[in-house]
Amino acid sequence: MPDRFVIQRHHASTLHFDLRLEIDGVLVSWAVPKGPSTDPAQRRLARRVDDHALDHINVEGRLGSGTVIVWDTGTYAMRHADTTAAGALAAGHLSVVLDGTKLTGGYALTRTGGDDWILVKTRDDAAEPDRDPAATENTSVLTGRTNDDYV
Ligand code: MN
Repeated sequence: MPDRFVIQRHHASTLHFDLRLEIDGVLVSWAVPKGPSTDPAQRRLARRVDDHALDHINVEGRLGSGTVIVWDTGTYAMRHADTTAAGALAAGHLSVVLDGTKLTGGYALTRTGGDDWILVKTRDDAAEPDRDPAATENTSVLTGRTNDDYV
């Protein structure tokens, strides 16, 4: 089975997007304050955060004092077939191809130091410089709900 990914729009004390990739049975996770961009010219800060259990992949609703929606989900593949996700993670450069509802095509995660990574859209046919989905597309791909529906 292909490995899965999820991006959860998490409105806690601040709004951010949690990008999670299924790697060796856990959800390796980054918090992306501005969310992913479909514009290859936009570099987005992504802070590595704690791995989550696989069953978190469908979590949506109230979470503590905040709210979570499944902003996008689907499967992903390594962009270079001779690399493994675990190896790329350890090397600090992970290049994947997403097959989601909102996001498709290549994305690259590059570690810049400590827990800081940069998330950038690969220049490919799925790039859409003018779309800006993290700012304009705010509904769950599972339920059609928004974070505000769970307040
Ligand atoms: Mn979060």
